[in-house]
Amino acid sequence: MSDREVDFLIVGGGHAGYACARALRDDGAEGSILLVSREPDPPYDRTACSKGYLAGGASRDEVLLSPPGWWEEQEIELATRTSVLKLAPGEHRAALSNKDVVKFGSALIATGAMVRRLRVDGGKLGGIHYLRTLGNSDGIRNDVEQADEVVLIGGSYIGTEVAATLAALDKRCTIVMQEDVVLERTFGPEVGRAVQDLLESKGITVHGGEDLEAFTGEDRVGGVRTKGGLELPAQAVVVGAGVLPDVQLARGAELELGESGGIKVDARLESSAAGIFAAGDVAEFESAVHPAGRLRVEHWEVASAQGRRAAAAMRGADLPEEEIPYFFSDLHDWLSYEYIGPAKQWDRVLTGGSLEKGEFSAWYLDGNTVVAVLAAGRPDELERGRGLFGKKVDPDQLIDQPERPTVA
Ligand SMILES: Cc1cc2nc3c(=O)[nH]c(=O)nc-3n(C[C@H](O)[C@H](O)[C@H](O)COP(=O)(O)OP(=O)(O)OC[C@H]3O[C@@H](n4cnc5c(N)ncnc54)[C@H](O)[C@@H]3O)c2cc1C
Repeated sequence: MSDREVDFLIVGGGHAGYACARALRDDGAEGSILLVSREPDPPYDRTACSKGYLAGGASRDEVLLSPPGWWEEQEIELATRTSVLKLAPGEHRAALSNKDVVKFGSALIATGAMVRRLRVDGGKLGGIHYLRTLGNSDGIRNDVEQADEVVLIGGSYIGTEVAATLAALDKRCTIVMQEDVVLERTFGPEVGRAVQDLLESKGITVHGGEDLEAFTGEDRVGGVRTKGGLELPAQAVVVGAGVLPDVQLARGAELELGESGGIKVDARLESSAAGIFAAGDVAEFESAVHPAGRLRVEHWEVASAQGRRAAAAMRGADLPEEEIPYFFSDLHDWLSYEYIGPAKQWDRVLTGGSLEKGEFSAWYLDGNTVVAVLAAGRPDELERGRGLFGKKVDPDQLIDQPERPTVA
């Protein structure tokens, strides 16, 4: 038995879910649309949680993806603070936390990713934060008001962005991480070293090659201890230890999962169940434009593009994948960089320019094939990278004067 019926059900109000709802209406879908979102806020720009919103420079309204009133205007039903608890793929039925049972025509699962939590001694002390939502960002902002020293666990995007944002608010920030230099796992040691030099030049301390052993303190965190014997004082901690695709709903519905643990989808983003699609951080897709083929990425723009493609597929149309996966990051106003990839492996990185001067590029080659490009202050270079992505090139033609990235 179903309480109600909708034509399009969207689960998750992140970038993918929002883009799907918007594209359905923009492309003329007339059927009923229900977007169910576990969070209290309407869809917002999640990338601001570690940047402008955390810094206090952008208000809650400013980070919303659409103005208030837009949902009613578009006749899209938005159910916030509501979860889809169960999906019955064969019957096209969903059970919601508000007790509604919804029969749907087609559905998009855009449940995103959830943070990887660390299970170490002291892990439940007050003052230890994870960051995925605006609410988490509020929690960090409030907590660090009383803190002088903040420790960031993890040297990837979250660790580096939050360290930069909080250091600019005059907090003493220390990054502790397993890798030798920041961002090494995604961009390699050369580029990682250059970014780390920049962070250190702004007063951020970085400890690489360290495994976390415990958080210390009574009720609230007072310090961080590593297996290598480091003891660091901290009145607040932010953990950025990666994310896992949120496949709880998909698992319950027995949808096929891929090697990365994400929902396996075909070229039209359809899952193993007919009429049920997946997009964004949760989807493992077969890429038509990336030489790696099957992949899952955690990038805002990919989630939005997939949301739009899923909308077309849900209407029975076909929108081919065209965009090379793209990612950007801001380290306060010290550095903005863009990246196309992700490269799974490479054997050479050709770099040019200076990160500190905000003009820099890095070309990642596997053999002579371009597998990723990172650029700061060089939009033309990124554009050139888009044209050469996945193609064999003459490395001597890529960068006129190759040089090691430097902050000098
Ligand atoms: C702090 C931070 C900074 C980032 N910065 C960048 C950046 O600079 N550049 C970049 O490219 N990417 C960045 N990202 C990554 C980017 O935000 C993600 O790739 C993007 O949000 C993915 O969108 P999505 O719609 O797939 O998932 P999400 O945005 O995670 O949205 C999924 C939503 O679904 C909800 N949900 C889950 N299960 C259910 C359920 N059963 N019922 C109802 N709702 C459910 C979740 O609560 C969530 O609201 C950042 C991420 C974070 C956390």
